[in-house]
Amino acid sequence: MPSRKPVTSASSCFWMSLKHLVVLSSLCSLISGYSESDRVRDLMTRYPLIDGHNDLALQLRIFHNNRLSQIDLQNVSKLATDITRLHAGHVQAQMFAVYVMCGAQEKDAVRLTLEQIDVVRRMCTEYQDFELVTSVQELTNSEMRRKIGCLISIEGGHSIDSSLAALRMYYQLGVRSMALTHTCNTPWAESSSKLYNVYQRQNNSLTHFGKAVVEEMNRLGMIVDLSHTSWDTALAVLKHSKAPVIFSHSSSYSICNHHRNVPDWMLHQLKKNHGLIMVNLHSNFISCRDEANISHVAEHFDHIKKVIGAESIGIGGDFEGAVRFPQGLEDVSKYPALIQELLHRNWTENELAYVLRGNFLRVFVEVERVRDQLHSNLPSEVQIHLKEVQNPCRMVLRPPDQRQQPSDRNSSFRAQHGPKDHRTGSDGQRPPAPWMPPRPGRNP
Ligand SMILES: [Zn+2]
Repeated sequence: MPSRKPVTSASSCFWMSLKHLVVLSSLCSLISGYSESDRVRDLMTRYPLIDGHNDLALQLRIFHNNRLSQIDLQNVSKLATDITRLHAGHVQAQMFAVYVMCGAQEKDAVRLTLEQIDVVRRMCTEYQDFELVTSVQELTNSEMRRKIGCLISIEGGHSIDSSLAALRMYYQLGVRSMALTHTCNTPWAESSSKLYNVYQRQNNSLTHFGKAVVEEMNRLGMIVDLSHTSWDTALAVLKHSKAPVIFSHSSSYSICNHHRNVPDWMLHQLKKNHGLIMVNLHSNFISCRDEANISHVAEHFDHIKKVIGAESIGIGGDFEGAVRFPQGLEDVSKYPALIQELLHRNWTENELAYVLRGNFLRVFVEVERVRDQLHSNLPSEVQIHLKEVQNPCRMVLRPPDQRQQPSDRNSSFRAQHGPKDHRTGSDGQRPPAPWMPPRPGRNP
C-alpha cells in the first residue's frame, strides 16, 4: 500500500478553500432558496432519463390479458409504473421489455411475442404521452422532449424460435434490442440461470447459429443485450459483436454475488467493447437480500465507476419485472432520489448527464453506425441445423437435402414428415409432399 502523502501547507490551503467553497455554496443555496432537489430537478430536466428495462407489458398481460381498454395508464396504483409517475421521475425514454415465459419455448413463443409487441405498440400510439421510437434521431428530436419515448426490447432469444427471418420481422415491427436469453438456454445461447433444464451443452455457449444471430443483429442495428446470459455466452458475444452491447438490467457481482450481476473481469471486457451496464434496482440483485436502500444501490454505481468509469454506466430499473425495490426507490417516480444520492457521493453533473442518457445514446449511435457500415450485406440465410431444434411443434416445409447420403435422406425425411407408414396412401402411392401443390384430379 502506498503511504499517504504528507499534507503540505499548499494542499492544506487548497482543502481549506474547498471547504469554504462548499460552505459558501450551501449558504448561497439557503439564501437563494435553491435546494438540492431543485438542483436534481434542473439536471434531470436538462438530461432526462433513458431507462433500460421495464416490464409494464408483462403486467398488462397478467392483469388484463392485454386488454388496454380495461386500464388507464395515466394512473395505475397497483403497479410501480404509470405515465404520471414516469413524468415525475423525469423518464424521457423507456425500453419496454417484450417478455414471453420460457415455458413457451418450442410452443407458441412467437405468437406470444407478437402479442406483446402489439400491446406495447398500441400503448405507445393510443396514449399521447407515449411515442414509439426506433432510432437515435427519433429519440432525440425536440418534439420528444415533451413525450416518453418507447423503445421495444425482446427479453429472451427463445422469442425468435431459432429463425433469423423472425428476428428481421421483429425489427420491422420496431424492436431495437434483444436479450439473447431469459432464464432458459436457447438452442444457440446459454442462460445465467439453471432454472430450466433445456438445451444444455458443454463448451458451446454461443453456437455457430448464435454467432449468426449476433451478426444479423449488428447488420440490422439491433442492440445486443447480455443481461440474463451466462458469463461464457456474454464473453463470446463481447468478442464477436462488431457493435457495443449492453447489460440492460444487471448490477455489480462484486457488491452482490448474484448470477444476474456482472463480475469485474467482465466489466473490463465490456469497456473494451465500448458497451454499457445499466444498473438494476431490484433489491435482491442490490443487497442480495429482500431489503435494500438507496445507499446500497449507490455502492453499485460507485464500484462500477471505480472499475470502468462513469462513461460505461446507465440505469435499467427493472420495475414490473421484479417485486422488491429499495426503500426510497419503490416506483418510477423515485429516480431523482438516486441522482441526489450520487451527487452526495461527489458524482459530477457531467458524469450523471452521461449516466442518465448520454451513455445509452452513444451506444445506440454506434450500433446504428455499424448497421450503416454493413448496409451492403444481404440478409443472412444461415439456418439452424434441424437436429439442434427438433421438437414435435416444428414443421419443416422443404424437401430432403439432395446432397445428403441416401440413408441420411430417409432419416431426414422421417424427421421432417413423420414415420414412413403415414407417407403411403391406400393405393400404395405416396401422397403429395407438403412443399408440392396437390396433384390435379384428386381430392385434397
Ligand atoms: Zn430480466
